[in-house]
Amino acid sequence: MTLEESLKNTVKTLPENVTLIAVSKTRTSEEILEMYRAGQRDFGENKVQELIQKQEILPKDIRWHQIGHLQKNKVKYIVPFIHLIHSVDSEELLRIIDKEAEKNNRTLGVLLQIKIAQEDTKYGLSFENAFRILEKKRSGKFPHISIEGLMGMASFTDNREQIIEEFSSLHRFYAQHQKDFRLTVLSMGMSDDYPIAIECGSTMVRIGTKLFGKRDYTV
Ligand SMILES: *Cc1c(COP(=O)(O)O)cnc(C)c1O
Repeated sequence: MTLEESLKNTVKTLPENVTLIAVSKTRTSEEILEMYRAGQRDFGENKVQELIQKQEILPKDIRWHQIGHLQKNKVKYIVPFIHLIHSVDSEELLRIIDKEAEKNNRTLGVLLQIKIAQEDTKYGLSFENAFRILEKKRSGKFPHISIEGLMGMASFTDNREQIIEEFSSLHRFYAQHQKDFRLTVLSMGMSDDYPIAIECGSTMVRIGTKLFGKRDYTV
């Protein structure tokens, strides 16, 4: 199957209001270009070094998404071009992004990453801390940031009920605060769990393996 066919097959399974982020970490620029030629414009990466190398040589109308944990000292490298940062997992990180956005004369779109998985390994804010940040933003803090929504990752498990539970908890919080804070994006769902995420109200899915095939190494 070509990447173009793979893209078509995946897009077919998505409702119209759901945005597809093609997760291109570990993929070559040639593979990304092939997806691009098939019409895909949103790509997600989780390593800053890899992202800036690809951004430099690939078409400038690609919308790049930072989807993995972002180290504070690397923020400055991506702020000039990044379309959306999905992985804001601390207030301190948000403050640094705001400062860099100001330097670049930009208002930068971000999502607050919420920890919904029961596993210990995943980054993310608690609902309480996310709410606190949203309130600070509303009262005028972080003027160069636009908090567009929320992101979450479910536990890596075959337990469908648990995944539903985790995604639903995030959707409840999103629905509850959507109007007050003008949120429009709920980023949840990867290759293995995105159909469940969509049932639970996702508006943005981040899909790698199902589009490009298995990665050579885990990242
Ligand atoms: C790698 C990654 C994905 C995509 O994972 P697949 O299982 O390959 O679809 C989605 N979100 C984040 C944050 C990732 O790091």
